[in-house]
Amino acid sequence: MSLSDEEYELYLNSKLVEPAIAYLKCPSRETQKHVNVLWEEELSVSIDNIKQLQKDCSDVSRLLFYIKNGELPQNSKLARQTVFEAEQYCIQDDILYHLNHRKHKDLKLLYPVTEQLVVPQSFREDIMKKYHEAGHKNADRTYNTIREKFYWNNMYKNVKHYARSCEFCQRVNHFHKRAPLKTWENVGVWQRVHIDILGSFPEDEQHNRYILLLVDSYTRWVEIFPLKTLEAKEIAEKFMMNV
Ligand SMILES: [Zn+2]
Repeated sequence: MSLSDEEYELYLNSKLVEPAIAYLKCPSRETQKHVNVLWEEELSVSIDNIKQLQKDCSDVSRLLFYIKNGELPQNSKLARQTVFEAEQYCIQDDILYHLNHRKHKDLKLLYPVTEQLVVPQSFREDIMKKYHEAGHKNADRTYNTIREKFYWNNMYKNVKHYARSCEFCQRVNHFHKRAPLKTWENVGVWQRVHIDILGSFPEDEQHNRYILLLVDSYTRWVEIFPLKTLEAKEIAEKFMMNV
């Protein structure tokens, strides 16, 4: 059974159908509609800048120039690699995309092909920062979110390293390891305070990027204070001055 182009378009817009099922019913790989990431993504640089950054990045321009003009690198090994890799890429409006043929690991079903924007080297850190710091997700969860829209060689390795090097996550993990679960005794008002730190958030006019959250365990009263850094000194000062 297969869907007409109109029916398949309807699926892409409705998102009511399980993607894997829809793919199987799609007319054919040749006529299949790709899902382009830039439809929804808000990038911190313009499309024109992306085009230029891709051209300036040796990692990306190698494939871009081959697919567009048939130009191959001088190095024969790199040239062979480029020809081999090129099948997984396409160009749209002068921008290089990687075609992500995602496959369900248990059922061996395929999802609709996603066009992932090929991220030039100079823009990778921005992407990792944006997606990791939105909730400070672990390496795998950060990677899974990024790969829905973006691609570059060694992306998983880079994202894993970025998430594991995050100063905020290291502090939070250290704090949690040192606080094993136990039953708390019932004590009076502001006798025991639970502390958490939220962020980072976009910087405000006073250069604050984090929130210090204090909860009185007896009354559940919550106090919040802005923080510029995660330095113990600043956190201690906020605590001593306000509680
Ligand atoms: Zn983090």
